[in-house]
Amino acid sequence: LSPRLISPDKRGEDVDTTLRPQSLDEFVGQAAARANLKVFIEAAKGRGEALDHVLFVGPPGLGKTTLAQIMARELGVNFRSTSGPVIAKAGDLAALLTNLEERDVLFIDEIHRLNPAVEEILYPAMEDYQLDLIIGEGPAARSVKIDLAKFTLVAATTRLGLLTNPLRDRFGIPVRLNFYSVDELEQIVRRGARILGMPLGDDGALEIARRARGTPRIAGRLLRRVRDFAAVAGDGHVNRQIADEALSRLEVDALGLDSLDRRYLSMIAMNFGGGPVGIETIAAGLSEPRDAIEDIIEPYLIQQGFIQRTPRGRVLTASAWKHLGLEAPRDLAV
Ligand code: ADP
Repeated sequence: LSPRLISPDKRGEDVDTTLRPQSLDEFVGQAAARANLKVFIEAAKGRGEALDHVLFVGPPGLGKTTLAQIMARELGVNFRSTSGPVIAKAGDLAALLTNLEERDVLFIDEIHRLNPAVEEILYPAMEDYQLDLIIGEGPAARSVKIDLAKFTLVAATTRLGLLTNPLRDRFGIPVRLNFYSVDELEQIVRRGARILGMPLGDDGALEIARRARGTPRIAGRLLRRVRDFAAVAGDGHVNRQIADEALSRLEVDALGLDSLDRRYLSMIAMNFGGGPVGIETIAAGLSEPRDAIEDIIEPYLIQQGFIQRTPRGRVLTASAWKHLGLEAPRDLAV
């Protein structure tokens, strides 16, 4: 995907963990998910047992990794982390699993990208805390079972639909994360500014929150960019005007859409009369991978009511036409 300021993809600056909340109480938003997790964590701790396996589902940048880390901390256990595409061979996963201690949290990001041979190993590990390994080759090959510590698998995926059913069924606690409200993002931005020691007026915080595309990772990134801008352009104090100027320069519009979002919408408007148009055609038109379009661009546009997915393809809604400053076709059905 082209580099985008507001892309919720992980980038270097997110490795800087200064803005990560450290406890469930510090974590803003996702009230339902947080309340449920709190109960399950307390119950598991009370029984002295490993927490049931947890699956976080939702667009990138909404706090899946952060919540997984918080869970390990609240459970008082080790946190081990990897991701689907990184685990190349069954042996890699076996090595990770055999190193876990009782009740540890193993976090697997992008679990939908796990290779099938590795996934096979995961089933008995999740269900019976056992590894079934084949050792050796040919006639000398034999299968061995190894007992594992009772661990908790916390996995994250951007797309539930890409998970196989047997894998999905093995998670006792599925948790869906949703885009954040402007109000929640405002709290996150304020907290970030406090941590960064940055003077930020209320209207400045609101302006950044409004444009953060419902995503804390983007809120954090915009906050840093606005801070740079304020340091160069003014006295470092961020009010609405400074935030607005900075974000306009970065081509983030009033609703948080960036140039790629607008390119997506205007292509469907100009080249396809508003749709319906298939995802492959859109991907080819934008020269972006289909996965990235479905994972990163579309969820927010759908949530904002700019597009609809229909069996025949994507269709622009009246609000999308309006946002583009174009007149909608008369026969617009959505
Ligand atoms: P994901 O794993 O869903 O892609 P992360 O957990 O890596 O997202 O979160 C992305 C960034 O957003 C992190 O830097 C984190 O500090 C911040 N963040 C996420 N959720 C929250 C929240 N509820 N409150 C404050 N910051 C958050």
